[in-house]
Amino acid sequence: MRRIVTHTPLIPIPGQFDPVAVPRDVTPRGDGRVDLLGLPRQRIATLFEEAGLDAKQAKLRSRQVYHWLYHRGVTEFDAMTDIAKTMRPWLTERFVIGRPEVVEAQHSTDGTRKWLLRTADGHDFEMVFIPDADRGTLCVSSQVGCTLNCTFCHTGTMKLVRNLTPGEIVGQVMLARDALGEWPKGRMDVAEEEDEAEYTSDGRLLTNIVMMGMGEPLYNFDNVRDALKLVMDGDGLALSKRRITLSTSGVVPMMERCGEEIGVNLAVSLHAVTKPVRDEIVPINRKYGIEELLSACAAYPGASNARRITFEYVMLKDKNDSDDDARELIRLIKHYKLPAKVNLIPFNPWPGAVYECSDPERIRRFSEIVFEAGISAPVRTPRGRDIDAACGQLKTAAEKKSRAERDREAAAG
Ligand code: SAH
Ligand code: SF4
Repeated sequence: MRRIVTHTPLIPIPGQFDPVAVPRDVTPRGDGRVDLLGLPRQRIATLFEEAGLDAKQAKLRSRQVYHWLYHRGVTEFDAMTDIAKTMRPWLTERFVIGRPEVVEAQHSTDGTRKWLLRTADGHDFEMVFIPDADRGTLCVSSQVGCTLNCTFCHTGTMKLVRNLTPGEIVGQVMLARDALGEWPKGRMDVAEEEDEAEYTSDGRLLTNIVMMGMGEPLYNFDNVRDALKLVMDGDGLALSKRRITLSTSGVVPMMERCGEEIGVNLAVSLHAVTKPVRDEIVPINRKYGIEELLSACAAYPGASNARRITFEYVMLKDKNDSDDDARELIRLIKHYKLPAKVNLIPFNPWPGAVYECSDPERIRRFSEIVFEAGISAPVRTPRGRDIDAACGQLKTAAEKKSRAERDREAAAG
């Protein structure tokens, strides 16, 4: 077993809800080359200029490299056939196109796949792919760990946190396309407009993205936005914003910007309808309460009956699952006139969790009450439980080990 050596200081969790620092866009590598993964076209152009190209050349080359990098998934400059052969070694000497390192890839009996990934500075995080009959959803992480401590969530028990960079975020999607063999082959021309998504779900495995892996995406807003821009760009990964959902525990001050600057579908981890219960299980509620949260949802740019906000509701036995809770949920949704659907998530247990999942009969009844009020409230089938890939179970293998185990490993070198 390889020992994990970290070169950057991690940030101890600063308190209930403080955001963590944003790292630089270009992280120096040992070999002096610059990793272009995660950088926008303009930034690539300035790097080319700094390396000695004139402005016109830099612009042209950055356009070509950008297309190969994000649209075609190429990782070698040598494969960029419209770039002069003499130019390619110049690029290779100065730049690389990286991917997050894969430490382990696991397959569930139900087809779900989970990857344990490692940043260049030695921090582990996870991504999950969930195939269904009509879609394939990639569950992407935004942070290593999470600064929030929702009491039912395993990620929330991780002790250390670092924001993932745009490259580490978009790198997850690109790695999934590598693994699924889903980079386009033919077309060479370059699209002009952003969000000119040219792909449909036809025949594709990876059709949807949810920012529901490790971390609170709205506490890493800039990096998540920059990464998703690359994903949505017609000349980038070209996935429509309608197929992307960002889930937040309720970082109210960032919600409007999320709608305006990213424009993806919104999911909100509501989980409780009264202040005492939500304060306990989703502690950010002490800072931004239910009323504030639902008002921000009502004002979310782009929400409509055609693009509903999803309210996630984890079913915890005797905590938030009564008929009264269901009725209060309906009242709130109607009061704020929210175009909403509810996703009921059976609680996924993890070692040491203090909650139990509600009985199936209770979940069914809760769902029925909400349905009868005209609000869609399906129960989410847990996926990948056998490999700890289900909602809220993400906590990296390294962190799961006991102190004693890690000490033993360290002693063994
Ligand atoms: N931090 C963001 C996104 C990641 S969590 C958020 O909280 O929304 C993705 C979803 O899984 C959230 O709705 C979260 O509340 C839910 N979840 C966390 N732990 C869970 C568990 N043990 N069982 C079921 N769902 C859980
Ligand atoms: Fe963080 Fe979301 Fe888990 Fe809460 S549920 S601790 S916000 S990852």
